[in-house]
Amino acid sequence: MPVVLIAEDDEDIALILSRLLKRSGYTVLHAPDGQRAFDLAIAHRPDLVLTDLGMPVMDGLELTRSIREHAELRDTPIVMLSGHLHPGDGAPVRAGVCVVLLKPCPNDKLREVVNDLVELGAHGHSGADSACPARWPVSV
Ligand SMILES: [Zn+2]
Repeated sequence: MPVVLIAEDDEDIALILSRLLKRSGYTVLHAPDGQRAFDLAIAHRPDLVLTDLGMPVMDGLELTRSIREHAELRDTPIVMLSGHLHPGDGAPVRAGVCVVLLKPCPNDKLREVVNDLVELGAHGHSGADSACPARWPVSV
């Protein structure tokens, strides 16, 4: 089963996301902050990382940059789920996020995005020929 790592400091949201993804056939790991998520990512090499933006210790942008700078994790698909972004805010994509979803995100949409990215699999984030749906690098 593909492994999804959830980085989310809100326990209620983490539980809801975890249940949703388990029902969709994923093995789910959860960390309550970016630093512990990064440690889990190194230990378990998840197929996808689903991260919140605002978290203690290390936020979602820092987690994303750390993954993109890590030699063995850098191609991991990353989805950011947040209620605190303005539509069109380019910071997550510049950090290396593949898809940004705004809370509240309908379950179907979340499942679709996660399924599509897991199917796409590991992919590079440098160069114009990147397979990333975020079309990295974006022009700003
Ligand atoms: Zn990507």
